Amino acid sequence: MAAKVEIQVRNIKGQAGYDVAVRRPDATVEDYLTALDRAIAGAGLYRGRAPGRNSCRGCDRCCAERLPLTWIDYLNLRAAVAPDTDLETFLATYGHVLVDGPAVDITLAADAEGRCCFLEPVYGTCRVYPARPLTCRTFICCPSTPRSRRLRAVLVNRGEDELVRQWLLVARNRGKPPLIHEGYRPRPRLTDWPPTPFAGRTAYREVPLKAVCPPDLWRQLTDGKQF
Ligand code: SF4
Ligand code: SF4
Repeated sequence: MAAKVEIQVRNIKGQAGYDVAVRRPDATVEDYLTALDRAIAGAGLYRGRAPGRNSCRGCDRCCAERLPLTWIDYLNLRAAVAPDTDLETFLATYGHVLVDGPAVDITLAADAEGRCCFLEPVYGTCRVYPARPLTCRTFICCPSTPRSRRLRAVLVNRGEDELVRQWLLVARNRGKPPLIHEGYRPRPRLTDWPPTPFAGRTAYREVPLKAVCPPDLWRQLTDGKQF
């Protein structure tokens, strides 16, 4: 059976980059992640931050950036490193919650040099590789098409929106203010964070891509055109 999601190698500005196309209407976020995993591992994509490499193994040059977490990332990471903890306890140790007015950003915690808390510092390897967040699984330092970049951004942002909603629900149910590491006149409101397509889901294979994509992006991903 043909793949539900295809990652196609494209020559973009003289380098081996990629495009993404959705081939089946029931494709899930996990189908996309699996296709991208395979391409990153074996399609010979250009490594712009580490020229000459054909593998990401042992390279940590993208592990010191903003690392937003999705709801399902939290579930995966909790199962891997702290199975008995609740959301606030997990975020207190492994997360960073920044609130600026009504805006909220929940990311992985970083060390004093800004490197991810799960980076093994000597060998530059990921200590939670099978459970690493969506933002890590979908990043490769090669060129990509606009629809590829937009799909990645939509999934990361919508998944983070669900985590923010859950973080506010926990606080409401406890009757206490939510955990905040860094706040600037914080005034987050649950009404600003309605349920997303990630609500009630516990794995990326349960989330249909179509449910997350805005209609125009879905058309671009499924129209068979090259960009
Ligand atoms: S979770 Fe792993 S891959 Fe992602 S930034 Fe941290 S160390 Fe790097
Ligand atoms: S994607 Fe990240 S880990 Fe892979 S080569 Fe580029 S900078 Fe290194």
